[in-house]
Amino acid sequence: MIKCNYVGVNEFETFETIVEEKYNPGKTILTNIKSRVETSYNQYLTRFDELEAKLSSEFTEKEVEEKNHLQGCYSSLTKTGIALKASIFENQPDTLKAFCPFCLLDKPRTLDHYVGQNEFPEYSFLAKNLIPCCYDCNQVKNDKWRRNNRRRFIHFYYDNFFDYQFLFAELTIAQETPMINLLLQKPIEINERDFQIIQWHFEDLKLLNQYNGRCNTLLSTEIKILKQSRVNGMSEQQIENQLLTSEKNYADDFGINYWKSVMFNCMSQNVHSILSL
Ligand SMILES: [Zn+2]
Repeated sequence: MIKCNYVGVNEFETFETIVEEKYNPGKTILTNIKSRVETSYNQYLTRFDELEAKLSSEFTEKEVEEKNHLQGCYSSLTKTGIALKASIFENQPDTLKAFCPFCLLDKPRTLDHYVGQNEFPEYSFLAKNLIPCCYDCNQVKNDKWRRNNRRRFIHFYYDNFFDYQFLFAELTIAQETPMINLLLQKPIEINERDFQIIQWHFEDLKLLNQYNGRCNTLLSTEIKILKQSRVNGMSEQQIENQLLTSEKNYADDFGINYWKSVMFNCMSQNVHSILSL
């Protein structure tokens, strides 16, 4: 897993431009609530940690028109909106142009509203709240960004724990059948609170199940390749080095908590038992 690149626009100026591009009555309604939107933007951009415990939006249930038009900034895009949405995708590292940051399994075809737009319509078009996401992750996450005042998903612009390894793998061999099992472990550098977010993120998106399924599908092919390398004269040490190179190459592009890099590391530590099968 790796961080997303934040496009870093002047968020409130962008909102003002979008309002100018709107037609009435939306334009007038949005103009009248500009300063309240600015206050909300400042909270997100400077005191994000306080949001998970915030009771509710700046906009009350009764302000139906205001809520509709705030959400309309995203659902019916103006010229500026279309360009910004495209630039959020274009500005990502190559890996995240091809893979969803939430799962690293599928293409990120959508933008997820990290803080749900039904609950907080003022963040419907805040770029820092818009994270590239695959269709499946977006469906599962939906509006469920927090529960009991605690956020449950990794925020790929804010969170900063990607350089520490929290995803590990174990190899077990039962009746001559090797199996890889991925697991989460808290490294000392990640605090309890952040590690809880990682655990919930994995739990809600069922990532360990998905990764284990893929690892074990790949494993039989990889074992055939290892055995062939041994037949071709490579030593166990050379095979181990080759696996460590694969691990490093994947980690360089996808982060050290990428399921494939973790899988290759696990295989590199078990070359002898794998070759003995
Ligand atoms: Zn995904």
